[in-house]
Amino acid sequence: MDKKVLPVIEFKNVGLSFDNNEILKNVSFEIEAGQFYTLLGPSGSGKSTILNLISGQLSADAGEILFDGKVINNIPAESRRVNTVFQNYALFPNMTVFDNVAFGPKLKKMPKDKIKAKVREMLALVKLEAFENRAIQELSGGQKQRVAIARALANEPDVLLLDEPLSALDYKLRKQMQSELRAIQKRLGITFIFVTHDQEEALAMSDWIFIMNDGKIQQNGTPVDIYDEPINHFVADFIGESN
Ligand code: ADP
Ligand code: MG
Repeated sequence: MDKKVLPVIEFKNVGLSFDNNEILKNVSFEIEAGQFYTLLGPSGSGKSTILNLISGQLSADAGEILFDGKVINNIPAESRRVNTVFQNYALFPNMTVFDNVAFGPKLKKMPKDKIKAKVREMLALVKLEAFENRAIQELSGGQKQRVAIARALANEPDVLLLDEPLSALDYKLRKQMQSELRAIQKRLGITFIFVTHDQEEALAMSDWIFIMNDGKIQQNGTPVDIYDEPINHFVADFIGESN
């Protein structure tokens, strides 16, 4: 008998408006643990807003957001077991690579030897073992994004949110980082929620895709489902576009 797995994150009829503009309209979905999810959609469709609601940077006007079955609408951001990687890295520019990655573990008062081991483990995961003493300014865009991923993962989140993390990188590097990110997710077994406007990227990387437009989820399915059976014209046109 299959036991029903409790979703790690659930949105129930979530709505949000800014200045009388309805940005999210009655959004409902479930995210199961240990999978690679992608929110795919054009600019302005509400992808970052969903990530900000999960991380606690924004509060919903309507509906419920649940984490492990508990409503978290009023739980502050710092108490949520979630970290975010942004397109623009958002690193601490005046700290070394090591200190950037050590930041979260230090805040949690992890013992020094454990912090060192943790930072080294995370830098190995993103293939930057040799860079721990470098200054952030010396790094390429791709290396900065690797540090940002290591820094987020050093906090041991249950869910990693990635908001267009590869969009600033050139095509070849993006391809390489796509497969590395996918491998990191499988290796750690935690939930990734990845945001992109690039349908090719979403199809290549995801276990599940939520296609968004105009503040609504248009379709939810595996890459094969969505590619083979787009549910409406918007999805068919969007998936069929080439970059
Ligand atoms: P995406 O990440 O898919 O590009 P966003 O979630 O950033 O989309 O934005 C969705 C919509 O909400 C857009 O129309 C955007 O202009 C609007 N929006 C986002 N943040 C704010 C804000 N702080 N104030 C007003 N409107 C906002
Ligand atoms: Mg966005």
